[in-house]
Amino acid sequence: MTYDTINILHLERFRDKIQLLETRLDKGTLIIELRFHKQEIICPVCHNMHIKFHSYQYKKIIHSISTHQKSIIRFHHRKYQCKQCHKIFYEHNPISDIYENISLYTKTSILNYLKDYNHTFTSAAIHYYVSIQTVINIFDRYVEAKRRKLPIVINIDEVFISRTHAYKYACVLFDFKGRKMIDLLPTRHKHYLIKYFSRIPKSELDQVEVVVMDMWTSYKEVVHLCMPKAKIAVDSFHLIRTLNEIIKRIRIDTMNKYKQHKSAPVHDDMYYYMLKKFHYFFLKNYEDIYDGKIHIRKMQAYWHKSIYFTTFFQLMMI
Ligand SMILES: [Zn+2]
Repeated sequence: MTYDTINILHLERFRDKIQLLETRLDKGTLIIELRFHKQEIICPVCHNMHIKFHSYQYKKIIHSISTHQKSIIRFHHRKYQCKQCHKIFYEHNPISDIYENISLYTKTSILNYLKDYNHTFTSAAIHYYVSIQTVINIFDRYVEAKRRKLPIVINIDEVFISRTHAYKYACVLFDFKGRKMIDLLPTRHKHYLIKYFSRIPKSELDQVEVVVMDMWTSYKEVVHLCMPKAKIAVDSFHLIRTLNEIIKRIRIDTMNKYKQHKSAPVHDDMYYYMLKKFHYFFLKNYEDIYDGKIHIRKMQAYWHKSIYFTTFFQLMMI
């Protein structure tokens, strides 16, 4: 094997150790047969130097040197046995971490690849011939994103990740005034959030004055528990949406009360018709609704919006 081949296979770190290096293609996969020189080794249990070779274990290690082709190191991993205590043990493996089947080189490549914001876990998995879960595990283990210090006003909100992910929603902490992300948490579950905030010093939590949130009950409970000094503000978008939903429910309930059928206690089909047809009146600013006479064909009449509202709000209050 020439030095060039060793470089192409990104094994230059192990150049002096290599005893055997062969490559072959097997159904489109590049197989790299690799064995290192025997090394002086002592028994890890009794520290005896009298040890004997036991056998080879052929360990398959994903070693993605190219994005076009899957490549695997078939590592001839030596097993030794201590002549004194009979313990069987492996020689040191510098290519991959213990119990893992992915080379350290591949891991470093994946982490470098993920530095680009446009790259996703999925595309990393495809490029490096590993599962998405493997990419996520590597990322979680080696990348510990530093959070920003908590500001005076925090916005807490969820983002939808995926239907198939273990957690459907992630949780974003946002600096309301500074317009910057503070941290991104993998879930919005109450227990996770409590654990997360309990790791932040109390002095830092205490200086948070306002937490802006949607109406998710867990957020409220977490803030009461972890930041008892902070005020809770429901953000206007979520508040308006909820108010609209309440009004809609009342309107539909009222509408159904007047639906034309004999079992209804009161029935006036015209009320039903009016509430249904002009439903948008309840979603708009009063000023934005047409200020002239509105034609109501079914009644063969023209009504001003003020008459509509006095009539129907009263109806809805009953
Ligand atoms: Zn021993």
